[in-house]
Amino acid sequence: MNWIIHLIAGIIFAAIAMSVLGLKESYLLIFLLIPFYALISDIDHKNSKITWIGLGFSLILCLLGLFYQSMFLNVGVGLLAVVLISVFVFEHRGFTHSLVFGAIICAPILYYFSFTEFAIVYLVFYSHLLMDGLFFKIL
Ligand SMILES: [Zn+2]
Repeated sequence: MNWIIHLIAGIIFAAIAMSVLGLKESYLLIFLLIPFYALISDIDHKNSKITWIGLGFSLILCLLGLFYQSMFLNVGVGLLAVVLISVFVFEHRGFTHSLVFGAIICAPILYYFSFTEFAIVYLVFYSHLLMDGLFFKIL
């Protein structure tokens, strides 16, 4: 499915969830996280937008690590490994399109923020599964 539709669905789900849950403090953070959580499921596809963004971001981190701090190199290599494993190990619309993967990928939000933010980003993640399910009947 087109990444723009996933992004629009994520924005709509987040806006509805934020109005229902009454989130006011960290709405800017949520809107910054929407593209990541709306698109992360497609990291198992070699031609998806999030895969190419992840590859580019990891290569930039690796280059920064080579010239500035080795911490960037470590994070870049780790991110590169995650992207490559996701593309070549998981089948498309497999594990990364599951509720378990969503809980794992949204867990840092629960740790660093609150359950309200977690619920919103989880709904944004779920909007991806719903859109894929509506159009490809995989749910
Ligand atoms: Zn998908």
